[in-house]
Amino acid sequence: MEKRKKLALSTQIFIALVLAIGAGIALTGNPDFAKSYIKPFGTIFLNLIKWIVCPLVFFSIMAGVVSMRDIKKVGVIGGRTILYYMCTTAFAVAIGLLFANLLKGIFPVLSTAELSYEPAATSVNFMDTLVGIFPSNFIKPFVDANMLQIIVSSLFIGFALILIGHRFDMEFKAVDVCNDVCMKAMEMILKLSPIGVFCLLCPVVAENGPAVLGSLAKVLLVAYMCYIVHAVVVYSISVKTMGGVSPLKFFKGMLPAIMMAFSSASSVGTLPLNMECSEKLGADKEVSSFVLPLGATINMDGTAIYQGVCAVFIASCFGISLTFSQMLTIVLTATLASIGTAGVPGAGMVMLAMVLQSVGLPVEGIALVAGVDRIFDMGRTVVNITGDASCALVVSNLQRKKAAKKAAA
Ligand code: ASP
Repeated sequence: MEKRKKLALSTQIFIALVLAIGAGIALTGNPDFAKSYIKPFGTIFLNLIKWIVCPLVFFSIMAGVVSMRDIKKVGVIGGRTILYYMCTTAFAVAIGLLFANLLKGIFPVLSTAELSYEPAATSVNFMDTLVGIFPSNFIKPFVDANMLQIIVSSLFIGFALILIGHRFDMEFKAVDVCNDVCMKAMEMILKLSPIGVFCLLCPVVAENGPAVLGSLAKVLLVAYMCYIVHAVVVYSISVKTMGGVSPLKFFKGMLPAIMMAFSSASSVGTLPLNMECSEKLGADKEVSSFVLPLGATINMDGTAIYQGVCAVFIASCFGISLTFSQMLTIVLTATLASIGTAGVPGAGMVMLAMVLQSVGLPVEGIALVAGVDRIFDMGRTVVNITGDASCALVVSNLQRKKAAKKAAA
């Protein structure tokens, strides 16, 4: 019974997605209508998600930490997670660079007159980023929705609870209750996902329909090709060999979250649905409640692919050829940039400035891709959240094997 109800929600999301594309195409001549009367309902849906996501991440990570009742175990899971995230992201950007280089012949060389985008001044410095992760005020991370700071706060409180928890088991229960309340509120909001998906996607199609047909279609095509190759090859191999799940089952189980990510272009907004899908696929709750919020904040494989492809695209538009060492720099900076990219729409484009700067490419080049960023974004968000889920399955399976080995010994 429960299963049928859940299945119905994913079918509803799918129908909303198809309807949104149809309505968007029908409205391409009148995008203002979609923008003024349809988009606000999508914004309401996103606002509700943003409202719940900070407490959800805070309590979810804390509940994940305290449920392990052992700081060493948190360290092992955290270490595995970060290693997995870094490796898959480096793979992602390498795939993006490889394909873009192989296919760069199809990219146009443009005149700089076509550039009209004024990029915001971004000076991303590693030490500043590091300092910025640690909050100086308890409340401010929640007010600013600063996910990295929320994660740090929740880790500290979680560790503190473990350290005093031997005396008062009550605290563990309190964290669980807070987590359950946030989850329940989220579940209520998720019931609105079909409406949210329709209202978010329809204006995007109405606005971008004709633009996609232009020369940018080529770079979009290359990016989407890389997204698919990365997801199908890297995640299939990892879930099959290390996660103990067949790739087909994995992608099928992930469909509701994939559709949500595609429509909302927000990893953070997709987090609750991603947790639900991953747990149904076999991820342990204690692992997924730790790995997924972390992934929605720091693991962005799709964004890294986009940055690699766009770097080559922008270089070739300006008639610049990238050297091998510049490519290596791009792999490194795109991997780091993806950590600093927030899981919200458009964040990856801002970080592209950092990647371009690292190899001396003109930052104004962002203008070339800015117009269709949302379309890049929908695909990269799908890859981002799928990568997080694959990690939750892999880490859960490795933990289970470790526990079985220990029990057998
Ligand atoms: N929208 C992406 C996400 O939420 C981030 C990005 O802009 O690349 O995962």
